[in-house]
Amino acid sequence: MQYYNNETLIYLNGEYVKAAETKTDLYGQSLHYGYGVFEGIRAYQTHNGTRVFKAKDHFKRLQRSAELVNIPYNFNNDQLINATYKILELNNLKNAYIRPIIFSSPNMALTRPVETSIMICAWEWEAYLGHKLLKVCISSFQRPNPRSVKVEAKVTGHYINSILASTEARDRGFDEALLLDMHENIAESPGANFFLEKDGCLYTPQLGNILPGITRATVFEIGQMLGIPVIEKTLTIKDIESADSAFFCGTATEIAGIYSIDSTIFKTDWRESLGATIQLTYKNLVLEKANYEVFI
Ligand code: PMP
Repeated sequence: MQYYNNETLIYLNGEYVKAAETKTDLYGQSLHYGYGVFEGIRAYQTHNGTRVFKAKDHFKRLQRSAELVNIPYNFNNDQLINATYKILELNNLKNAYIRPIIFSSPNMALTRPVETSIMICAWEWEAYLGHKLLKVCISSFQRPNPRSVKVEAKVTGHYINSILASTEARDRGFDEALLLDMHENIAESPGANFFLEKDGCLYTPQLGNILPGITRATVFEIGQMLGIPVIEKTLTIKDIESADSAFFCGTATEIAGIYSIDSTIFKTDWRESLGATIQLTYKNLVLEKANYEVFI
């Protein structure tokens, strides 16, 4: 996958510069300790032009992530949103994945940085887990304990846990992992939140041990719009065994249906599931289509 070429422009500390010609400091805390925060955002080509979906919510979460881990946030979110649109325009991108990242300046001490940098880049990216139904396994890795790290912050170093879990799942022949939390309750996937369907309702783990996903919040909004009950609840492996269907959701992943988790194959045909209805409505929402074509 090529993320940039010689012409690609990125936003770096207030300037638009060529990705191929920029340098980074090799003594920075982000490189050495995984101490940075970032976001994953998508833009869609809509009939209203290119639109960044829930841009404000994403930059708000970027700010909250920084604050939670004591990374100074001296940025104006409205300016960053303008810079995001500019990056899309300069690179002639209409459907794109956008990655803002705040990284820390040189400091080998284990203390908060004095200075930070911000970079925003974008590239075309297909749905992260593709479009086929997923074969998922319960990971041998747990999500980090909220008393060890700030799980609600999107911190670069946290993704070591995600990479370990995803790599293990693929090495075992699965498409993706589902991680439990430190109490052995269901948490989330390496890069998405998790929902299951049971008797006409959707269930998802409550906040506390997971990333507060913006797509997850959108699923609640869609549920409200369509009259589908969406309930936060502690979920265990037993709930998977008795569920009708399940899906992952995230900005990069969008809504991805799950075929099986370990040996449990879901009873409901995906096309008949609540997840499929959410998937269709989500697509219409991000594309700003006024009339939701919904089949329940
Ligand atoms: N959980 C994790 C661990 C993630 O990395 C992501 C992707 N940001 C999500 C959930 C989904 O969050 P969002 O819907 O805001 O992209």
